[in-house]
Amino acid sequence: MIQTTSAAVPQDSRPAREPELRAPIIQVHNLEKTYQTVHGTLTLFHGLDLDVRSGELVAIMGQSGAGKSTLLHILGALDAPTQGTVHCASTNVATLSQREAAAFRNREIGYVWQFHYLLPEFSALENVAMPLLARGQTRREALAVAANWLREVDLEDRSEHRPGELSGGEQQRVALARALVASPRLLLADEPTGDLDETTAGRVFDLLERLHLSHGLTSIVVTHNPDLAARCSRTLRLERGRLVPWGQSSHSGITTGTP
Ligand code: ADP
Repeated sequence: MIQTTSAAVPQDSRPAREPELRAPIIQVHNLEKTYQTVHGTLTLFHGLDLDVRSGELVAIMGQSGAGKSTLLHILGALDAPTQGTVHCASTNVATLSQREAAAFRNREIGYVWQFHYLLPEFSALENVAMPLLARGQTRREALAVAANWLREVDLEDRSEHRPGELSGGEQQRVALARALVASPRLLLADEPTGDLDETTAGRVFDLLERLHLSHGLTSIVVTHNPDLAARCSRTLRLERGRLVPWGQSSHSGITTGTP
């Protein structure tokens, strides 16, 4: 066994809340993803497997360009695999039509990106209400639910502010409220704190963790921050087209760090 000291994630100090007996909510088997580019075929995943149980908060790390965002896009039915099976929240997402994929996302997935993507011409309250309006709820109902969510992220006093009138941390808290307003089962977060300073990033992650627990979510968070990853129930690393537990290398027989 080869030990290294690189960016160890102290998994053994994590709270014992791994929901081992709960049902799998994400099951990915033998995933392949290739892109045809002017330089030839780019293979991102080959034989990638992933099982996530209900209630888990999973961190995914890996080098830039490894395919982390693409994996979240496939789980959230924003992109299609080249091959393999992807079951997510009781849905075979690989076979959905565009219309079915949109309905699946609205029903099951809360998405948070590194950049908030709030609509600049709408207030914080209206931005949070958007997924409910897209579902066909009345404006009155949607705004009432959105107001509750702004309270959950401690921003009820900013409800009439437009995104440009909010700080980076506040914008990301509004984005979290918008992601969760339609009560999805899965939260997919792609470097949700990557654009924030360390203190603000810690606070946004505190909120994400609190909402994950209080709303019984299953969450996958892509992050480059080992301290934040260490707070998740487990950490996986995307390497050479596959996911490996943190501390294990995809080179057979070689183990690094502390599993
Ligand atoms: P990460 O999130 O780990 O940084 P990404 O999933 O964003 O990685 O991208 C992985 C690789 O796939 C990158 O090299 C990127 O350029 C490439 N890629 C992503 N989308 C496409 C596409 N539509 N066509 C061709 N290449 C793509």
